[in-house]
Formats: sequence, C-alpha cells, structure tokens
Amino acid sequence: ALVVQRRDKFPSFNLPRRVPTDLKKPGLRIVVTGGAGFVGSHLVDKLLARGDSVIVVDNFFTGRKDNLVHHFGNPRFELIRHDVVEPILLEVDQIYHLACPASPVNETIDYLFGISRASLVSSKVFLNKSHKTNVMGTLNMLGLAKRIGARFLLTSTSEVYGDPLEHPQKETYWGHVNPIGERSCYDEGKRTAETLTMDYHRGAGVEVRIARIFNTYGPRMCLDDGRVVSNFVAQVDGLVALMEGEHIGPFNLGNPGEFTMLELAEVVKETIDPSARIEFKPNTPDDPHMRKPDITKAKQLLHWEPKVSLRQGLPRMVSDFQKRILDEK
Ligand code: NAD
Ligand code: UDP
Repeated sequence: ALVVQRRDKFPSFNLPRRVPTDLKKPGLRIVVTGGAGFVGSHLVDKLLARGDSVIVVDNFFTGRKDNLVHHFGNPRFELIRHDVVEPILLEVDQIYHLACPASPVNETIDYLFGISRASLVSSKVFLNKSHKTNVMGTLNMLGLAKRIGARFLLTSTSEVYGDPLEHPQKETYWGHVNPIGERSCYDEGKRTAETLTMDYHRGAGVEVRIARIFNTYGPRMCLDDGRVVSNFVAQVDGLVALMEGEHIGPFNLGNPGEFTMLELAEVVKETIDPSARIEFKPNTPDDPHMRKPDITKAKQLLHWEPKVSLRQGLPRMVSDFQKRILDEK
C-alpha cells in the first residue's frame, strides 16, 4: 500500500535520473536543509559567494527568514518552506543536512531553566520533533541523495559522546549516552542519523560525510538558544572542507580551548556588563561534565582548525544580540 501511495504522490520516483537543462548552470547545485538557522545561514552565504546555486529547505521551526533575507532576489537562491520529515523531490549535486531542532533548551523542560519562551512551541512538541527530524528527516534526505546520486553531509554533534568517560574525545570514542534521559531525543537522534548515514553509504553506495560539531556561537544565533558557547561560526569552513574532501569522517569540528563555566561567566560579564552578578544554579539532568574535542584528525585531513578565540568572538556575538534585541523593541 505504501508503494502505491508513494507512486501516486511522486510519479517521477521511478523514472531514471534527469537533470533539467535550466538547472545546468556553472557552479554546483546544493541543498541546505536547516539553512534558515544559525549555522546553515552562514553556510548559505559562503556557498552563494563562491558561485553555487543554493536551495534552502526549512520549516522555520527555530530558523528565521531574516537570516536569509539578504539573498532574496538572487537568481541562484531559492527558499522552500518544507518539513524534512516529509519526502521531497529535488535535483542537486550536494546535500548539506543541517535541519534539526538543535538547542538543548528546546529539548528539556522549561522550568529547569526558569526561561520563559512563550514564543516557542511547547517542550513536548520539541522533544518529539527532535527525534522525528533526526530519524525521518535524515532518512528522507539520504533517500533523495541515493536517487539523484548526490553527496550527503550530516551535521552531527559532540552530544553523541554523551557524558564522556574519555577526555578529550577522539572520533574513535563510542560515547556514553543515557538512552532514556531528557536530552536523549537529541543525542540518540543524532546517533541514529549517523547510523543511517553509514547504512546508506555501505548499503546503497551513497557518498557521505559526517561532521561532529561542538558548541558553536556567533551572530544570528537564536536569542534564547541556551547552549554553552565555545566556537565561532568558522565551523562552516570545516563543513565545506569536509564536503569537498575525500574523507567520510566522522570529524570533530570544535575548539579544543577548554574553560570552566565560571571562567566563561567571567568573560561574559567583562564583555557585557562588568557590574553583573554571577548566580549559581543546579545543572540540567545528564549534562556532560566535561567536553573537549581532539581535532588532530580535522587538522591533518581537512587542514581545518578554529580561528577565533572566545575573547575575540564573544564581543561580535554580543553586538549582534544587542542590535536584534533593540530591533525587536
Ligand atoms: P538552528 O536551530 O539555528 O538551525 C536548525 C534549522 O533547522 C532551523 O532553521 C530550523 O527551522 C530547521 N529545522 C528544524 N527542524 C526542521 C524540519 N523538521 N524540517 C526542516 N527544517 C527544520 O541550529 P544550528 O545551531 O544552526 O544547528 C545546525 C545543525 O548543526 C543542526 O543539525 C545541529 O544539530 C548541528 N549542531 C550545531 C551545534 C551548535 O553549537 N550550533 C553543535 C552541534 C551540532
Ligand atoms: N525520498 C525522498 N526524495 C527522493 C527519494 C526518496 O524524500 O527523491 C524519501 C522516500 O520517501 C523514503 C526515504 O527517502 O521515505 C528513503 O528512500 P529509499 O528509496 O532509500 O527507501 P525505501 O523507500 O526504498 O525504503
């Protein structure tokens, strides 16, 4: 019944691959799922700047049109409102699969943080949506990659290491994740996404790449994101190097510069308001005690390493936040 239903819905599923002539432009044709989000929109800027054609597929769950508005009118740019949990037909050369409700604040229960997020959907929706997007969304994007012979890149996360028993973490570490905890929807969702990615590579010959991103911050980050900062958006260069290179990964993309939460709070205080008072609150359940990427592999094989230190990067993000808060008023 499923096959019949799918044939009705997408009659071209069973046709051989065909690239419409009007899409044959110089440069690559690239899909970025989650391209209206924080990392995705910076990636889109980079790809368009180098001459590629970019289709963003995003349901605006946490992303914003504002992040892409400067590309409206560019004939090489297209924005599709679509939930990747549903199948989609496109013809492209590469797929950057970033779509995912990514912030842990979104995944856990609001009262733990005491943060009011009236504008965001209820946490239950997030919990369900995170896993569903990681599993069904990744499956659909891999099915698409298989059908059209596109190269597929997954943005996985340092969360696959859970609360690590190995420090720093190399890509060979299998992780220490609670499968039934409050943040497992994200951790286990991404672990499944990695498994699916390797299944499609081994089983269907899809060309795949896996990046494990460590906490990244910078302009355009969701105002109530709630993640701990550690790396500036230079991560995007790492994603492109990975997509263009010969190595499947996984690769850790992160900043090995380690600091305690108190050290971080001091830098934030210095940057924003030296008279601010630091408050201590209980941590969220299953939050990892330590995290630090070993980036030897990315340095050697992708020639990538982070460029912006916390003290350089934080003021740039703060000025972006201040501007946006003022604009919202
Ligand atoms: P973000 O929330 O800013 O971006 C995610 C984007 O995906 C948003 O635009 C959102 O609307 C879209 N999206 C979510 N569910 C969707 C769905 N079902 N269909 C279509 N679009 C959907 O987050 P980000 O920080 O830019 O993260 C991008 C990717 O990088 C995510 O896969 C995330 O897991 C990964 N990552 C980010 C970090 C980080 O620190 N920023 C760390 C590790 C991994
Ligand atoms: N899919 C899609 N676009 C495509 C091809 C596939 O969204 O161009 C989806 C498809 O609906 C399915 C998933 O990707 O749910 C996996 O596809 P695949 O052909 O690998 O799996 P199958 O349907 O054969 O189990």
